[in-house]
Amino acid sequence: MSNSRFENLIIGVLALQGAFHEHAVALEKCGATARKVRRRRDLAGLDALIIPGGESTTIGKLMVSYHLLEEIKGLGAEGLPMLGTCAGLVMLAREVVDGDQPLLGLMDIKVRRNAFGRQVRSFESALEIPALAVPEETVAGPFPGIFIRAPWIESAGLGVDILAEYDGHAVAARQDSMLVTAFHPELTEDLRLHLLFLGMIKVRS
Ligand code: GLN
Repeated sequence: MSNSRFENLIIGVLALQGAFHEHAVALEKCGATARKVRRRRDLAGLDALIIPGGESTTIGKLMVSYHLLEEIKGLGAEGLPMLGTCAGLVMLAREVVDGDQPLLGLMDIKVRRNAFGRQVRSFESALEIPALAVPEETVAGPFPGIFIRAPWIESAGLGVDILAEYDGHAVAARQDSMLVTAFHPELTEDLRLHLLFLGMIKVRS
């Protein structure tokens, strides 16, 4: 399904480690252009950026060594919309429980890594996400949440909207132009989460 509403958008996908390719495919299906980001110069002229799942400690270290951490922090502070999934949610957080690792710190959330425990490292659950009623998509009903060694949001500031919960824990949230999920929308065929994100982008004139 292509969507002409998004055809002029160039969305960066941080491609240092993790599930970046799947995000690029989902973006193209939504009608946007995906650009893999590995160097600082890849950030020029983006309309938004996705920080994918993977291993947040590794992604953070690589962002430091590629001189991307401060640069992306600055773009976020200027209002560049960002979607963080799983490890990407961790990267966007202000704080990690019991952790000391490089973070972007752009969202007022405190997160717990690998929060669902060793017994249930990976699972799928149908999630109710009322915010997903996006005009482009006719699909309704719960969203297939794929959790892989997922974090949860332990606490959030007043400016943060919690969009979904699993077992009483916040697993998706939005703050201004930042959107995060503890699960992996890019590993499903369901484009509603990506469409919600693209709809949050105000096109600069
Ligand atoms: N456990 C990973 C982390 O904390 C996230 C896992 C994932 O992105 N699937 O970085």
